[in-house]
Amino acid sequence: MNNSQKVPFVDLYAQYLSIKGEIDHAIERTIKESSYIGGKPVVGFEQEFAQYCKLPYVISCGNGTDSIEILLKASGIGAGDEVIVPAITWISSAEAVTAIGAKPVFVDIEADYFTINPALIEAAITPRTKAIIPVHLYGHPADMPAIMEIARKHNLFVLEDCAQSHGAAINGQLAGTFGHAASFSFYPGKNLGAYGDAGAMATADQALAEKARMIANHGQQGKHNHLMEGRNSRLDGLQAAILSAKLPHLDKWTEMRINNASRYDAVLQSIGKVQSPKVKEGYKHVFHLYVLKVNERENLQKKLAASGIDTAIHYPTALPFLACYSHYGHVPNDFPVAHANQQNILSIPMYAELTNEQISYIAGVIGEN
Ligand SMILES: *Cc1c(COP(=O)(O)O)cnc(C)c1O
Repeated sequence: MNNSQKVPFVDLYAQYLSIKGEIDHAIERTIKESSYIGGKPVVGFEQEFAQYCKLPYVISCGNGTDSIEILLKASGIGAGDEVIVPAITWISSAEAVTAIGAKPVFVDIEADYFTINPALIEAAITPRTKAIIPVHLYGHPADMPAIMEIARKHNLFVLEDCAQSHGAAINGQLAGTFGHAASFSFYPGKNLGAYGDAGAMATADQALAEKARMIANHGQQGKHNHLMEGRNSRLDGLQAAILSAKLPHLDKWTEMRINNASRYDAVLQSIGKVQSPKVKEGYKHVFHLYVLKVNERENLQKKLAASGIDTAIHYPTALPFLACYSHYGHVPNDFPVAHANQQNILSIPMYAELTNEQISYIAGVIGEN
């Protein structure tokens, strides 16, 4: 094995090269039509993505963070309300709650998985609780059947954060179709990524869809009929055209990610030094990230870096312990699993184009003393 090999954390250029003709054509066509805002590419992508998600309404928007915020707002949640959020996730899931004037209430994650622990949700519910935001973190679905049962009992709105879970499922049912609405990000590195910022909201609730579309488009119904104040959050035509070109490849790319995860699992299990990610029975994990649990993470990260292998930590600090949430006064014992994880999680390279050789090389370096 070549010791000067470099393995990037993601390789977006390799993916582009694999479908260069289709992407170039989509960009050229959009420029030729000057469909920069709205128009055919956006309408087309919304329809295609709705079909992919198996949900009747898809409303595109500027990014994934906006998709959470706009859906919460459209559902009528606001000042004085509380929204339950997992203790480990990207900050958007909590930031969007604060942005609409509500309060994020954190709940710890499951010990063996990285998603919100349904057994701890009821203890966090108060008379002000209005919603739960389960996040299908790293591409592994949260326990939606258990979460929906709690939500029904307490009459809570459920918004699935699907930013990392395009195509993930539980017993064949797609993540995003369990709750009342789903938010998606198409940030370039996500499993379905644009060439810039992009996002979408998906739901089966027609009234919610109409409200969300209005909010994302300056509160207009039709043109110049502003029923409320909204904002400007839209998907641009070039991004929509690129996403439409990529969508037909998504399931194949997901299969490649899953195969790469199995290869990692096999070689890493034989080495036995690190714990590979677990997948619940019947769950389809789409491996947006491949996250190990390791001891002495810093040493391993340095060793991998010295061998040209990029790694990352998702996320180094659980949300309740971030400076911006210090006013809630949380202590490690409030979220013991999330707190322990922030010391030992490590994300190693994961993407469809990762080769067997690269996987063996990475595993070989992990196995060295
Ligand atoms: C990426 C991400 C978002 C936000 O998406 P942006 O498009 O970057 O705004 C929200 N939630 C999670 C879990 C994410 O990973």
